[in-house]
Amino acid sequence: MGVVTDWSALIRDIPDYPKPGIVFKDITPLLADHTAFTQVVDELADGLAFDKVVGIEARGFILAAPVAYRSGAGFVPVRKKGKLPAATLEASYDLEYGSAVIEVHADAFAPGERVLIVDDVLATGGTAEATVELVRRAGAEVAAVSFLMELSFLSGRDRLPGIEVRALLSV
Ligand code: AMP
Repeated sequence: MGVVTDWSALIRDIPDYPKPGIVFKDITPLLADHTAFTQVVDELADGLAFDKVVGIEARGFILAAPVAYRSGAGFVPVRKKGKLPAATLEASYDLEYGSAVIEVHADAFAPGERVLIVDDVLATGGTAEATVELVRRAGAEVAAVSFLMELSFLSGRDRLPGIEVRALLSV
């Protein structure tokens, strides 16, 4: 793989955003740096075999689309409820307060296609777990789930048993 740049300093902590007690991991400085951006896009998929790349709304889109382009794979969006125009499958998951619903187009995958799921941050794992469920219900296989960063103290990967989980950075 060969690290050409230490991009970790380009993810900055924003304390108390979006609410008190949360330290938000802001990836916009990394995205603005061409060398760092292209390197993480390569590392997210390096050595993995897949047919489609799923990006989780919204920052997952920014990372997953160039991974798909670079890898010769198709891109599939997983979106918050109500945003996709054709027939969908949906999955709900718990948030700190209340719950959220995400959707994928029911015809997004051919049977048995291998899917790489991409997002920026793995926190509690609820979003990724729901996305895995959607991909499987849509008839595809999860090849791996790749994140820029994992908040390891939240143990999100425990909610993804038996799945290859890649985090380029762990804090
Ligand atoms: P979770 O479902 O708890 O794993 O949360 C993951 C989703 O929330 C991802 O789509 C992240 O973009 C976002 N997220 C959660 N925690 C943070 C954080 N501290 N900084 C930035 N994004 C976060």
